[in-house]
Amino acid sequence: MSKIRILTDSLASQVAAGEVVERPAAVIRELVENSLDAGARHVTVEVQRGGTALIRVTDDGCGMEREDALLCIERHATSKIRTKEDLAAIQTFGFRGEALPSIASVCRFRLATRESHALSGTEVEINGGKLSAVKDYGGNHGTVIEARSLFYNVPARRKFLRTEATEYAHIEQQFRMHAIAHPEAAFTLIRDGAVAFHLPATSDLLARIRGLVGEELSSRLIEVKRQSHLGIDVWGFIGGPGLSRSSRQQQLTFLNGRPIESPAINYGLREGFHTTLMKGQYPVTFLFLEMEPQAFDINVHPAKKEVRFHDGFSVRDAVSRAISQALSSASKLPVGHTPSSPRLAVQAPPQQPVLALHSSPEPIARAASPYVPTPVLAARMPERVAAQISPVLPAPAPSAEAQVAPEPEVQEAKLKMPSFRIIGVVHKLYVLMESPEGLVLMDQHAAHERVNFEKMRRAMEKGGVPSQRLLMPLMLQTSPRDADLLKRNLEPLARLGIEAEPFGPNTFKIEALPTFLKTDDPLAWLDQVIEELQSLSSKTSALRLGEDMIATTVCRHSVKANDALAMPELMALLEDLFDCEMPYCCPHGRPTLIQMSLNELEKKFGRQAP
Ligand code: ADP
Ligand code: MG
Repeated sequence: MSKIRILTDSLASQVAAGEVVERPAAVIRELVENSLDAGARHVTVEVQRGGTALIRVTDDGCGMEREDALLCIERHATSKIRTKEDLAAIQTFGFRGEALPSIASVCRFRLATRESHALSGTEVEINGGKLSAVKDYGGNHGTVIEARSLFYNVPARRKFLRTEATEYAHIEQQFRMHAIAHPEAAFTLIRDGAVAFHLPATSDLLARIRGLVGEELSSRLIEVKRQSHLGIDVWGFIGGPGLSRSSRQQQLTFLNGRPIESPAINYGLREGFHTTLMKGQYPVTFLFLEMEPQAFDINVHPAKKEVRFHDGFSVRDAVSRAISQALSSASKLPVGHTPSSPRLAVQAPPQQPVLALHSSPEPIARAASPYVPTPVLAARMPERVAAQISPVLPAPAPSAEAQVAPEPEVQEAKLKMPSFRIIGVVHKLYVLMESPEGLVLMDQHAAHERVNFEKMRRAMEKGGVPSQRLLMPLMLQTSPRDADLLKRNLEPLARLGIEAEPFGPNTFKIEALPTFLKTDDPLAWLDQVIEELQSLSSKTSALRLGEDMIATTVCRHSVKANDALAMPELMALLEDLFDCEMPYCCPHGRPTLIQMSLNELEKKFGRQAP
């Protein structure tokens, strides 16, 4: 007897469900996509017990007639494509005709739907993939789909579900992504009977983002103005310099309104944020891409989370351009926020200035001032606290503005320079300044790193960083593959100050190294260079390689944290910093400047309701 069998439809659906329906959040993704494809203006998502007990998605979309309501739960039944040409130019979210039968095969499923002009609609019930009832439906027009007791009939899958809280967290993340991708539709999320989000339809993307992530984060975003490059439109909002996360959770990217992940986009983001991001940190992005559907293939992942671009390099370029442009035109200083949750304050103990700077200046302020003002002093405090702090330096500090030379060309260069008044230096590291908006702190070490870094980068762009001939050339042995890589990169390496010459098979004679390099083991450093080269591929990367190398070594050249700088040096540093393309963070992504607004100070001193 032959061994091969065609799977029954219900078994095939369960198998497909394994791919499409990994967890409750995936059911929500499919159902919400269907609602949006149906032209819904309002989508309501209800869940109970992390979606394991109930998922219900209600929409006011086009609804279905009876025949379609019965067909839609068959495998490969879709209204969205008919021919293979359609598949190449997909404009809808769905097209595989797999979601509903897959979901219906692993839960207690109910679908109720009515077209707007129809007197009555259709209600269908399915249990574990078997049709159990078909009735008339008298509810609102649009569609309601319920999935109860997910995986009740596939215990192996049910076992893989995490805690209800974790499943809910995934659901909320999924909901956020849809809601951000479609501000033109209203969205409601109801968790165990309580409204978690109610988002009215809006044409203002930032308003929608604010509704989802709150005022604090959205006020720190900068706009990426819509721009077109090689047929790819890019726009949205991104975190400014110094704002980052330790996971990709808030790195949201969308392609033609669909939340997606793509290595090409991630690469473009990394290139674009480049030195404004700390190592191992991820940016905050709400970034939208739009392009012809023919330019990519969405049909590579059963859950349609990934795409394959026909020209990944253009995508990468378009993203990285848009990001770096937005960042360099950003005029916002990183803000020293009071953490809204006590958890943040705990994460930022005063003995770790870097962390503390990143999240809140408050612990530092406390630790640095054991002095408690007496009530008399407090009573004499003038209206505006910050503006009245007197200079602690012997000579009155000239304002930075006054330093600007009158010649027009100089003035032009210094236009970016805000009018800061230097008040003094705290703990030989933080330069305290008054700005028209409040108080600004500069980390002099980070600022110096940025200045040195950009100086070297300019030198490299112009023709190469200064290099030093070695008294005795070094012999570098490599594998055949690395030898090939080095040979192809001799020119960019020379710009970085590395003079290498092939010397027999798989050997290179190193005759000069960059002067900025201070190491006892240059061969080990060269190995690192090769490693970096391996991770880069395109033409633009040669420059990037140099930048990374400079960024990692530039630290040693910068002023140490507690080198005391005199006033003229501080002034010069501040001016140099504002001559930089990216003054707001060091080449490793740590902020160079943070600002506390008068508003914030007033709140802290209880002059204003928080
Ligand atoms: P796909 O979305 O890939 O077409 P689905 O299994 O998700 O496949 O849905 C099958 C079909 O059912 C859709 O093509 C659509 O015609 C119909 N449908 C599903 N959900 C809705 C909805 N909320 N409103 C109207 N029609 C829907
Ligand atoms: Mg679908």
